[in-house]
Amino acid sequence: MGSMEEASTAPENGSAAATTGGGGGTACNGAGAASNGGGLERRLRSSTASASWAAHLPLEVGTRVMCWWRDQKLHPVKVIERRKLSSYSSPADYEYYVHYTEFNRRLDEWVKLEQLDLDTVETDVDEKVEDKATILKMTRHQKRKIDETHVEQGHEELDAASLREHEEFTKVKNIAKIELGRYEIDTWYFSPFPPEYNDCPKLFFCEFCLNFMKRKEQLQRHMKCDLKHPPGDEIYRSGTLSMFEVDGKKNKVYGQNLCYLAKLFLDHKTLYYDVDLFLFYVLCECDDRGCHMVGYFSKEKHSEESYNLACILTLPPYQRKGYGKFLIAFSYELSKKESKVGTPERPLSDLGLLSYRGYWTRVLLEILKKHKSNISIKELSDMTAIKADDILSTLQSLDLIQYRKGQHVICADPKVLDRHLKAAGRGGLDVDVSKLIWTPYKEQG
Ligand SMILES: [Zn+2]
Repeated sequence: MGSMEEASTAPENGSAAATTGGGGGTACNGAGAASNGGGLERRLRSSTASASWAAHLPLEVGTRVMCWWRDQKLHPVKVIERRKLSSYSSPADYEYYVHYTEFNRRLDEWVKLEQLDLDTVETDVDEKVEDKATILKMTRHQKRKIDETHVEQGHEELDAASLREHEEFTKVKNIAKIELGRYEIDTWYFSPFPPEYNDCPKLFFCEFCLNFMKRKEQLQRHMKCDLKHPPGDEIYRSGTLSMFEVDGKKNKVYGQNLCYLAKLFLDHKTLYYDVDLFLFYVLCECDDRGCHMVGYFSKEKHSEESYNLACILTLPPYQRKGYGKFLIAFSYELSKKESKVGTPERPLSDLGLLSYRGYWTRVLLEILKKHKSNISIKELSDMTAIKADDILSTLQSLDLIQYRKGQHVICADPKVLDRHLKAAGRGGLDVDVSKLIWTPYKEQG
């Protein structure tokens, strides 16, 4: 499920997301460079003090140790992988791929030995504790077999073993950066690009057709690309914002490229055979150079489970501008046009769930404010296209519902509603329904 914006509202990874992806490429590279300089003296001191640890080098995979991070503070990490430096001459000449145990996997990175505080090394890892933590942390994922290079969202929740398999396979980011339009963007997760791309520190994407290349010169030659916007039909334009509907069957390569790109920012998104079955809704900011993708969501053409959204992503340079909420709102506007109720495919990512909760809270409580308690969940669902289960869970989580005499009763004290609305934050950009020119998908002969 999609990673989203509103990272700032997620306490466990708020500052983290803001530093890695939130600001986009150039700014956060700058921050990274600055912190490398700042902690150096302390690191030198700590590594001198740990001369006795030299005998234990290189550190084993699985080792737990404290690591200087870009916030100039020590954080606990676990060593996921290690590799020899090109200048290798002694066991000290390794670098380590570490997972910050307090943070989301998107912040995993390669660090130098000097960044590790060897006085804090713990070698015996308690696997049981770790298993439990992993299960608690990751209730999202799927068992779908990885059998092709196409990528789409999986469906089922993962059991611990499959989750471990996923984490083993995707443990090290393969592409560190991408260039897309005018942005250089640090990636967050592994993405299953064809093997010949795996040794590239940076990939260059054409921002219109999403073809990717290993070298800048290839991209420059490609710039004669005749597309200046995503393929497919423009179904919405309001001001500088446009939404394109791309049929995965008619634009297979684009759909696959989009999935490769999206996986760099979505952890638990599974490789999936067929983009044919999906429609992609690509949101763009338009100017005289073209329509620049800011994010997208995908949607199954036919969903038995009334899913109206499969994957959702706002690209890091565009996060925290209300685009994620716009995409969610848009998915419900499509459901209303179809006269259906919809729900996002599970599992939701951490940031995805936050955005959805915020959206559901705002939409439902605005209605409750007008109608007081004189409205049923069914009526709310009919008005909003939000599935009844999601309405119930949202209102329950806000403590606005009671079960009396076999019935759910909504309690809508205006003061309480206002308090929750305030906490839910701003609504983001509105979808102007009058600008949506769209008819529901129908299979053509
Ligand atoms: Zn192109």
